[in-house]
Amino acid sequence: MIINELRAGIRYMPLHSPFVTAKGRSEKARSYVIELSCESGVTGLGAVSPAQYVTGESMEDIERSVPEIGNFIGGREVDDYEAVFGDMRKAFPLAHAARAGVEMAVMDAWGKAHETPLWRHWGGAKPEVETDQTISLNSLDVAREEAKRAARAGIRQLKIKLDGSYPRDMIHRIRTVHEVAPDAVLLLDANQSFTVNSAKAFLEILDREQLPVVLFEQPVDACNVKGLVEVAADSPIPVGADESVVTPGDCRTLLDAGGTQVVNIKLMKSGLSGALEIIGMCRSAGVTLMLGCMVESGIGTGAAVHLACGTGAFTWLDLDAPLLLARDIAEGAYTLNGSIYRVSDAPGLGARLVPEEYSKT
Ligand SMILES: [Mg+2]
Repeated sequence: MIINELRAGIRYMPLHSPFVTAKGRSEKARSYVIELSCESGVTGLGAVSPAQYVTGESMEDIERSVPEIGNFIGGREVDDYEAVFGDMRKAFPLAHAARAGVEMAVMDAWGKAHETPLWRHWGGAKPEVETDQTISLNSLDVAREEAKRAARAGIRQLKIKLDGSYPRDMIHRIRTVHEVAPDAVLLLDANQSFTVNSAKAFLEILDREQLPVVLFEQPVDACNVKGLVEVAADSPIPVGADESVVTPGDCRTLLDAGGTQVVNIKLMKSGLSGALEIIGMCRSAGVTLMLGCMVESGIGTGAAVHLACGTGAFTWLDLDAPLLLARDIAEGAYTLNGSIYRVSDAPGLGARLVPEEYSKT
């Protein structure tokens, strides 16, 4: 089955409330949707939600690189996807998120052509997985309300975004969330906002607080792999790498430097092919895996749900984008009930676009 062409464009999705992290604030989510068509008439859907501070790609970069990648793979055989993805990586080494979106579209087409749901292709481990929900860096009152609402909805894992510039406030924030959601385990994400020393001091205080914290993610700058490993080495709480691990090569570098207890994979960083490589590396190194996402559409989240259900490789799932969206542009890849995803058993991703009139602005 020969790849014919890519059609692509930006779609917009309104959020329930602004999404705030130590790296910025967004009111509306954008998804760059890719529709791949093959000569046989089979089509595939992919999507890109770039995060510039993670992969260096802006939406303008995506708009430029995806059509280039489309031209590059035109005429190739979908069944040769592994070779195609390898060639894409060599030709467009820095187009991480752009390649990720194209990989999704190719795999969706492959699944449809072979009448195979992708989660079954990737191992068929389990049809359901559970996600956490993120408490963003809004005011403490908003955080308290978000945590209360999550507790009432039966969410059992809460991910709290932290700003390391205010460690005392952050301890207070974590305690507040725990008070209103006492049954939830807590995952902390610092998004690079601590120094090595401030992270170590923070972990000491946190340890004395006896809070149900199971993860402290990306305390220090993404480039400071040595510092990240140093924080992880003496930490009483598992430390995770997110922004420090974009590619499988980054994961190798981290593991060779001593590693962290957890690695957070995101399709927008490594793509599907890179994610499968990182899973293999971390499994053999005994590193716990988390699967995260950007604020993305039902296509990107769908691909992540298929990967999580298929491989069964992830202890923690941070796939709460659908909970943040007031309206999604795609549906069908999964159903979400509270925090439980059930993957579609339709061929490919099982995702379809909702009519365009709802998502043009
Ligand atoms: Mg993170």
